Amino acid sequence: MSKAFSKIMAINAGSSSLKWQLYSMPKEIVLAKGMVERIGLPNSIFTVKYGKGEKFEKILDIPSHELAVQMLLDELISLKIISSYEEIEGVGHRVVAGGEALKKSVVINEEVLKEIENLAELAPLHNPANAQGIKAFQKILPKITAVAVFDTAFHTTMPAKNYLYPLPKKYYEDYGARKYGAHGTSHFYVTQKAAEILGKPVEKLKLITCHIGNGASITAVKYGQSVDTSMGFTPIAGVMMGTRTGDIDPSLIPYLMEKTGISSVQEIINIFNKKSGLLGVSEISSDMRDIIAARKEGNEKALLAFNMYANRIKKYIGQYFALLNGADAVIFTAGIGENSDIVRSKILEEMDWFGLEVDESKNFPGAEGIISTLSSKVKILVIPTDEELVIARDVERLRVF
Ligand code: AMP
Repeated sequence: MSKAFSKIMAINAGSSSLKWQLYSMPKEIVLAKGMVERIGLPNSIFTVKYGKGEKFEKILDIPSHELAVQMLLDELISLKIISSYEEIEGVGHRVVAGGEALKKSVVINEEVLKEIENLAELAPLHNPANAQGIKAFQKILPKITAVAVFDTAFHTTMPAKNYLYPLPKKYYEDYGARKYGAHGTSHFYVTQKAAEILGKPVEKLKLITCHIGNGASITAVKYGQSVDTSMGFTPIAGVMMGTRTGDIDPSLIPYLMEKTGISSVQEIINIFNKKSGLLGVSEISSDMRDIIAARKEGNEKALLAFNMYANRIKKYIGQYFALLNGADAVIFTAGIGENSDIVRSKILEEMDWFGLEVDESKNFPGAEGIISTLSSKVKILVIPTDEELVIARDVERLRVF
């Protein structure tokens, strides 16, 4: 029997963190949200935001994801947000890599969980952590519907000419060496929202969606479907990011190993993943706010990092204009895309030939919606992403009543 309202939890588990949001569905009301950080480390941070801006924070040692889940549910009971564990009727987990087998959101069973774990090769930093989150909830809430929502799912519509690498074909056939992309849930959400804002069906729109946060990816969306995206086999590819290189010549791997004496490929990849991007070039920070502040003070390395960052995104936007034969709108989302008018302006500088004209009076911190001039041939939009909502909607849709 279906109930009028259900409480659904959307989860994004990292290796030492657990981000969560509790919804009342189908009204899509956020009842509470929060995060557990530093799981497994001393002084874990446990936060809950609820009500009208109330915040609860506790610092204590939380040694495992399982304990984090238990503590979270107990706290929701103490705060009278739920009255018992059983009130949670579904949980949705963000999973970064779904590979080719998991093309859309699915109810998690043993087979699905095993596949998620097997796909760790495609997202070594994320899938094992996502699986840890799933298992923690399975232990504490074994009876409720658990759904996996994949970051790669939206990109499974890419045609072979865009997802294949020009490698010997058997590497794709035998080992699945291809582009899978990421951030699909976010690209999907802003695509739907853009159609709403532009007042046109998604099937009639060609969009270039820029998810630029600490991780960043650009997607070409044709008539509602992803046709190409900048991230690749793993999330290291594409544009420059907070700590990731983005696209890079693979010959640099043996070259740098020889020059630096680093003997393991994994260590080089670790540098490409965690010590490069804004952090590597600026030698200051991976955080765009720090880069902008240092740039303002005349720091040359921060200026270079900032310019490289904007330039690499600009080049992908240009590519996708070609691939789509023009676009109706360019969309900015995620931490930097939503909040930084300065980065948006820099990316879109001198792109008037493409029909992109920012209205600087509409492009300010906190701006939302259309930020292009009335005469801009291509609309420019800022849309706050909401991956958690997509997850909660999928749980509600797939929930067994
Ligand atoms: P995300 O990964 O989506 O949470 O985005 C994180 C990135 O957004 C970090 O690089 C932050 O510095 C950046 N960010 C957040 N707020 C601002 C802001 N007001 N201006 C510039 N960058 C921002």
